[in-house]
Formats: sequence, structure tokens, C-alpha cells
Amino acid sequence: MFTEELERLAEAGRPVLVTGATGYLGGHTVARLLGEGIATRVTIREESGRDQVLAALRQAGVDPAGKLSFVTASLDDDRGWPDAMDGVGHVLHLASPFPLTPPETEEELIRPARDGALRVLGAARAAGAARVVMTSSFAAVGYTVKEDNHYSEADWTDPDTEGLPAYHKSKTLAERAAWEYAADRGGIELTVVNPTGIFGPVLGDRPSASAGLVRAMLNGDMPVVPVMYFGVVDVRDVADLHLRAMLHPKAAGERFLGVGGPALSFWTMAGILRERYPAVADRLPARELTVEEMTERARTEPSLREAATLRGRVPVIDNTKARSLLGWEPRDTARTIVDTAESLFRLGLARPGTGAAEG
Ligand code: NAP
Repeated sequence: MFTEELERLAEAGRPVLVTGATGYLGGHTVARLLGEGIATRVTIREESGRDQVLAALRQAGVDPAGKLSFVTASLDDDRGWPDAMDGVGHVLHLASPFPLTPPETEEELIRPARDGALRVLGAARAAGAARVVMTSSFAAVGYTVKEDNHYSEADWTDPDTEGLPAYHKSKTLAERAAWEYAADRGGIELTVVNPTGIFGPVLGDRPSASAGLVRAMLNGDMPVVPVMYFGVVDVRDVADLHLRAMLHPKAAGERFLGVGGPALSFWTMAGILRERYPAVADRLPARELTVEEMTERARTEPSLREAATLRGRVPVIDNTKARSLLGWEPRDTARTIVDTAESLFRLGLARPGTGAAEG
């Protein structure tokens, strides 16, 4: 059924609008849409975004074949959005700030995430688009500790949770605002995808914060790792989940958690890399900090605060809904970690080892 829906959309020729196309998930999503022959319009903030998207498509081996168009629009500004939405049937709203380092103030992330989502929804509604699929995050679901550590689409992060990082707060407040808008105004369908940590092949030369972790490990920038477990999902599977969420009639008004399998820890991730790339083993993390060490070090190292708050808990994240309702079948997470590393070596973003065993 999904394949037929994709074919119908390609034949109809009505464009899908993608925001955040210059990003990690955006590149894969646009590649997938064009690969299916679907007319795709993307928003870029600056002219350089065009080259970034085209370079990612070249790396993905996808020829836009005259089906790709660009409109300039920013989450921080009303300009451009009516043009971007003109004639569009579906919107994939992926854009949101996801910085490598925490911002000076929370508002730097919250404003574009929340106000940008409302801007996109408002413009989509005004233009008569059928559905907006918004990329939220597990950050909006599972960062208020629950005793049983089990998380499903029914859970929400409380934005007032003590020590909640600004990014997590921005995703929670943006998703909340989007649901409130859709309920209050009506006239537009909203579907939300909540991915866990996204890994998998990097396209372009700017790995996002998540793939950047694998890069940091491979380049010897993480000599020790905190004891911290998190969900992992492949970027290609998250793109696929967005397309399913966009087309399935029963997906309207629903959230979908995106996780590929049981949570992994930084240490497990390092182990997967060590086994596959023995030639770089001496650069990989050598040790996992204990909870006590993390708590002590977090007093002076802000980057450890999140892990220290979580105290090594292992979240159990349920992907039953996406599998059963949308027929989503994510791939094995260990393979995803290896594919991330492969792409980083190939792009020269991670240093090769000296031994012959690598690669
Ligand atoms: P990314 O590579 O950093 O891409 C972020 C995208 O958002 C870029 O295209 C960026 O455009 C755009 N953007 C940021 N601020 C903007 C603004 N003010 N106006 C317009 N565009 C703006 O991150 P990603 O990993 O692809 O993330 C995509 C989405 O997935 C985000 O919503 C993120 O929160 C969500 N997510 C990511 C992960 C993960 O592990 N990566 C996990 C869960 C959810 P520029 O190129 O112009 O900066």
C-alpha cells in the first residue's frame, strides 16, 4: 500500500515541501523523495544551501531530474513561506536548531524551534496543504525520569524538569505548541515523528551533532565516555518513517517514536567500532566513567550534566506503533553505527588508522 501511495504522489506531481533539507536528516529525506520520483521543494536560509543540498544528492547517487526546486525562507522570519507553500500538498518540517554546543541562552533554540513550527503550520494551513509532518524528538518524550524507564508515544518530557538541556526544552515546547495550534485552529493535519539519536551515513561535510559523536570517538576526542544509554535509529529509516507518516491515512493526529532497537550506551558503541576497526582501537574511548565519577566531574564539566542526571538508567523505548500501524521496519543498530563510521572515513572526516585491518 505504501509503495502505491508513493507512486500516486509521484504521478500527481504536486510538490512535497521539505524544511531543513541542508541538514543530515534533510539530505536523506530529499534523496528518498526524489529517488521515488516525487517533486520536491526545499527551503534554504542562504544561497549556499542550494549547493549543500545538491552535493548531498550527488553523494547519495540521486539525480534531481528537474524535480527539485528551492525557496529562501528562515524559521525566524515570515518572508518566503507563502511562496514555499504555494501548491504544496504535504510538508515535512525537519528544520530546528541542533547545535554541537549548548547556546548562551535557551531562547536561541526555543524561539526558532517553537515559533518556526508555528510559522510553518500557519503558512501550510493558509496555502491549503493537507498535512504537516513535524520532526520532534525523543527529547520531547523521555527526559523526565520514570520509575519503570519504559517510554511510548503517551509520554512527554516535562519542560520544567531540573537540568533539562536547552535543546530538549526547545523540542518539547515546539512540539507542544504545534499540537495546540492544530487543535485550536483546525484545517490542517499534524503528524509528529520523535526519533531517538540519529546515526547512519553522513552526506556532505557537516555531520550533525549525533553523527559527530562517532566522529569524535574515531578521532580520539573521547578518551573516556559517561555511562549513558540512548535510543539509536538509522537516518535512512527516519526518512522512511517521515514518508510513511506523511501518507498513511491513520497517521493524522499521531506521534511516532523512531528507534531501531534496544538502547545502546556510548561504551557499547565504542565496542562496535573497536571490533570493526581494530586499526583505530587506540583512539577509541578507553574507559567508561562510573556514575560516582560522572556526578563528581559534572560539577565542573557542564557537558556531563545530562549523563549525571540520568545516572546510567537504560530507557526501554517502544517502536510498536510505527511498526504495526505504518509497517515501518528499521534496520539493525550495530550496522547503523558501522555505516556512520564508513561514511566518515570515506569523506575524510575521520582519520584512518595505520593498520591494514581498517576499512
Ligand atoms: P542538522 O544536520 O543540524 O540540521 C538542522 C537543519 O535545520 C538544517 O537544515 C538547518 O539549516 C535547519 N535550521 C536550523 N535553524 C534554522 C532556522 N532558524 N531557520 C531555518 N532552518 C534552520 O540536524 P539533523 O540531525 O538533520 O536534525 C533534523 C531534525 O531532526 C531536527 O528537527 C532535530 O531536532 C531532529 N532530531 C535529530 C536527531 C539526531 O540525533 N540528529 C534526533 C532526534 C530529532 P542550515 O543548514 O541553514 O543551518
